[in-house]
Amino acid sequence: MATRSAVRQLKFWGWGYEDQQPPQNEVQATAAAARAHLGFEPAEVEQPARLGDIDLPAPRLEPPASLAAICSSDPYERVTHAYGKAYRDIVRAFRGRIDNPPDVVARPRDEADVERLLDWCASAGAAAIPFGGGTSVVGGVEPRGLDASVSIDMRALDRLLEVDSVSRAALIQAGATGPQLEEQLHEHGLTLRHFPQSFEYSTLGGWIATRAGGHFATLMTHIDDLVESVRAVTPSGAWESRRLPGSGAGPSPDRVLLGSEGTLGVVTQAWMRVQERPRLRAGASVHFHGFEAGAEAVRELAQSGLWPSNCRLLDPGEAELMAGAPSGRALLVLGFESAHHPVDASLELALECCTDHGGEVQDSKESGGGAGAWRNAFIQAPYLRDTLIAGGVLSDTFETAITWERLPSFVARVREEAERAVAEECGAGRVTCRLTHAYPDGAAPYFTVLAPARRGSELEQWDAVKAAASEAVAAAGGTITHHHAVGRDHRPWYDRQRPDAFALGLRGMKRALDPAGIMNPGVLIDP
Ligand SMILES: Cc1cc2nc3c(=O)[nH]c(=O)nc-3n(C[C@H](O)[C@H](O)[C@H](O)COP(=O)(O)OP(=O)(O)OC[C@H]3O[C@@H](n4cnc5c(N)ncnc54)[C@H](O)[C@@H]3O)c2cc1C
Repeated sequence: MATRSAVRQLKFWGWGYEDQQPPQNEVQATAAAARAHLGFEPAEVEQPARLGDIDLPAPRLEPPASLAAICSSDPYERVTHAYGKAYRDIVRAFRGRIDNPPDVVARPRDEADVERLLDWCASAGAAAIPFGGGTSVVGGVEPRGLDASVSIDMRALDRLLEVDSVSRAALIQAGATGPQLEEQLHEHGLTLRHFPQSFEYSTLGGWIATRAGGHFATLMTHIDDLVESVRAVTPSGAWESRRLPGSGAGPSPDRVLLGSEGTLGVVTQAWMRVQERPRLRAGASVHFHGFEAGAEAVRELAQSGLWPSNCRLLDPGEAELMAGAPSGRALLVLGFESAHHPVDASLELALECCTDHGGEVQDSKESGGGAGAWRNAFIQAPYLRDTLIAGGVLSDTFETAITWERLPSFVARVREEAERAVAEECGAGRVTCRLTHAYPDGAAPYFTVLAPARRGSELEQWDAVKAAASEAVAAAGGTITHHHAVGRDHRPWYDRQRPDAFALGLRGMKRALDPAGIMNPGVLIDP
């Protein structure tokens, strides 16, 4: 067996593999350049803690002999399963502060292992926390405040099991990451075409459990739209829905598991609607005089039936910062793609709509090269976040959705509240906004906060900004999350957002499926 040091390891504190971490002199140069670009004073660039320096409490659980082969209490395993990848997670792990390590990390090899693990957790009174890629940004995998816990890492179940090329669907195990499942589908000329920014490390099971949103702006925005049927193991037995293209038979069993965030059971596999790989692309970028003019164009596009695959509107602050747009100009990144028909005519109509709203077309690429470059930059961004954190830049995002008639006042109000909190907590900083997804009846505003961090107080700074922003979102009628999920961090606002009678029903379902209350306690709902 290979020793751990010979195996490529994920960083225990940040994004990607240890061998992807740039050398410290490069981190220093990039962090200094980023601070200067953001207009922040220079600051010392820190180094991450070393794993060997982290003291963990002794594990409070010992697996039975029958499960010993798939369980570990190795420090690297416990540390890498203690947090997700929110700003507050990375800051803590970077400093070697591991507040709530799981006692045991289990890596089931099949469904029978999952069943035996849940039985053991119920009898031992331990929490069972399903773990996909650990990219949660809402405290979804952190065993916060729990007595004893087992992190159930699903990544050994990473196979494409079956392809139905007639119905164009594929049965995929829940632990497959984005690249793993795309690579296996590629052999069949197919794609799931679901690209969240965390694509490289997040898993199908995690996407289903959190109702993840991909980077396509219209039509099939969420993983929900791609799920044909789901299979999960709950403490009360297996849950598998029929494969159907649609069904009116009562509330949908799939919709109940979608967004269940590990509180009802462990998703083990799903039949997913797959597609032919797109070959035909066209894209362009367009400048607008201000965010509101751009948003009006996006509304018309979303209501036009043209269904652009990419339709991201960056406000002037973000357009200037990320794409060097001239001051005061919002930037719309527009793209179309298809496996079947040329999309240039669609792009042309979309650009006409943009110019009707005062848009100035910057570049138009028939190959859609612009959209591909956008996607690559999008997937690379989280690596840069690690460098920003080392350089003392507070860097996080929050996202929501709202109907069109309220969008302008909503964005203004949330931005104002977030800016006020950033100024109070950090003394300086920026809040920018982009529209990531566009629907006929509304859009999903996505806010980015970049501010100088006060070393040692980053969590308090971010928590205050996040709370102010969340209060503003809730008060103005938005959702506390469009695709990042609820987890532990969004609970106060989610509890207020969901109807009381729905909470009663959900609680009843939780009690029936998870009578011992072991499944990811603290997330979504209390039994
Ligand atoms: C840099 C970055 C970019 C991101 N971009 C996006 C984005 O574009 N779109 C988006 O939607 N999200 C995004 N996220 C958030 C995150 O990637 C998603 O929530 C993702 O779906 C989580 O998948 P995961 O496999 O990492 O799950 P984890 O983080 O491991 O788990 C998330 C939740 O799902 C549960 N869970 C995981 N696997 C299972 C399973 N098999 N059965 C039952 N429950 C399970 C966990 O218990 C937990 O509650 C981003 C996060 C980061 C850090």
